[in-house]
Amino acid sequence: MLMSGQEYLDSLRDGRRVYVGKELVEDVTSHPAFRNAAHSFAMIYDRKRAPENRDVMIFEEDGEEFSTYYLLPRSREDLLRRHETHRRIASWTYGLLGRSPDNFPAYVCGLVMRPDLFEGIRKGFGDNMVNFYKHLRSNDLFACHAVTNPQGARRPGAVEPSPEDSPTLRVTAEDSEGVTLNGLKMIGTAAVFCHEVWIGNLQPMGPGQEMETITCSVPLNAPGVSLWPRKPFEKYAVSEFDNPLTWRFDESDSAVLFEDVKVPWEKIVCHDDLAMSRNMYLISPGHVLANHQANIRFLEKLKLIVGLAGAVVDANNVGHIPAVQGTLGQLAALQASLEGMIMGQIQACEEQAPGFQTVNRRYMYAALHWCSTNHAQICDIVRELMGGGFFQMPADSSIFEDPKMAATFEKYWSVQGQTGKERMKLFRLGWDLLGSEFAGRHMQYEKFYAGPGHVMNLYSYFNCPWDELKGLVTEIMSGYDAP
Ligand SMILES: Cc1cc2nc3c(=O)[nH]c(=O)nc-3n(C[C@H](O)[C@H](O)[C@H](O)COP(=O)(O)OP(=O)(O)OC[C@H]3O[C@@H](n4cnc5c(N)ncnc54)[C@H](O)[C@@H]3O)c2cc1C
Repeated sequence: MLMSGQEYLDSLRDGRRVYVGKELVEDVTSHPAFRNAAHSFAMIYDRKRAPENRDVMIFEEDGEEFSTYYLLPRSREDLLRRHETHRRIASWTYGLLGRSPDNFPAYVCGLVMRPDLFEGIRKGFGDNMVNFYKHLRSNDLFACHAVTNPQGARRPGAVEPSPEDSPTLRVTAEDSEGVTLNGLKMIGTAAVFCHEVWIGNLQPMGPGQEMETITCSVPLNAPGVSLWPRKPFEKYAVSEFDNPLTWRFDESDSAVLFEDVKVPWEKIVCHDDLAMSRNMYLISPGHVLANHQANIRFLEKLKLIVGLAGAVVDANNVGHIPAVQGTLGQLAALQASLEGMIMGQIQACEEQAPGFQTVNRRYMYAALHWCSTNHAQICDIVRELMGGGFFQMPADSSIFEDPKMAATFEKYWSVQGQTGKERMKLFRLGWDLLGSEFAGRHMQYEKFYAGPGHVMNLYSYFNCPWDELKGLVTEIMSGYDAP
């Protein structure tokens, strides 16, 4: 069953508990903090099944239709099809929705390629993983993941004074039907707009944390689950003209609280297993496929950032200056580098799970590292190109409501070939992308969504063929000796 955008919006009115400050939001699809972003996600639901996209974005299996982001890739062609699906979704939102509906399914596709890993944790967990995959794809569901534990409360092997004092989500009781969960999980990006949240651990767990290793997916309207999103920027957007990106693409980030939440055994894929709670993502192609999607999404955003640089240079009439051309060339080279790194992941695909073709791990982690380390610098370069343009503009677009002020504005703010309104529109967009509160959140997102910087380095460290590289040193030294 493939949902329409309207069906998707209707499905979010399900009694979920979302708190903006102390306010309990009745309906995220109409609330001023979330409604436009909800409609952006609905747009994805509509477009992916539109006639012009179906051949790529929908696949058929046993007479049923599913979104291609659930296609389990068995060839390079399948990977190319998945890539094009991710790319189209990211292009519709300019890469500004990090956890679009195709992000978490990429994790699930990788995980379900290795049911044996889950069966090894406990009999039946392998089937649970397969059934979860089928459940998501058959119902066209939007799931997010919260696999980070609250800051300040995660020191493997040093839970003080006892696990019960930790705010971290854990199993507090279990019986023949399932487990009871209590505690907090971070950070459910887009959770407000999802049907289910997957909870687990991408950070290492240590002795004493066994009950925190629980991994399962829970409907967001399950009794006892509540979402506590950060300040919703959409609510404070002045207008689409003034904050065009905040207006449509604030995907939100939430702390997810569990209070006596019951989860049946059939939904659980990991429990009481310190090593596997994290390793499942790394041994299976889950982490690799999900972050490949993130690379593709980042590239679409980078195109907008570099495009903005070109447009700002034109607007400021500085494009003829060789130094400015050099700066644009630097940005263009960076953007093309990432494009090449992503295509290389598909070209050099590998069989990380038997019978499947998944993207090249080393190249994916290199691209992930590239994105998280270069994003801030790229934004800084474009902000420098923008100069003070944004600050020369009036406070907001209400001046256009007053014909006399609008005429005065046009007289003094326009330049040859550009109206004042066109310039204001461009600089408003630029500031929303690179300077606003929405932009500040994106700076943090690109630094952290896949983990902190030191972990980003380690992914590349662990996947490097050190024997091969160090062998070159041995080889060259073996050809000579002291006289
Ligand atoms: C906007 C945003 C969206 C997010 N979305 C999601 C999501 O959808 N799902 C999800 O599960 N998580 C999400 N995250 C959480 C993300 O996974 C974490 O922020 C990330 O793993 C870092 O963890 P932390 O924030 O707890 O920082 P900490 O682990 O507390 O680290 C704080 C700082 O200390 C440094 N540090 C800590 N330990 C070391 C060390 N051993 N060596 C060197 N430096 C160290 C880190 O590099 C970092 O600079 C999101 C985060 C952000 C900011």
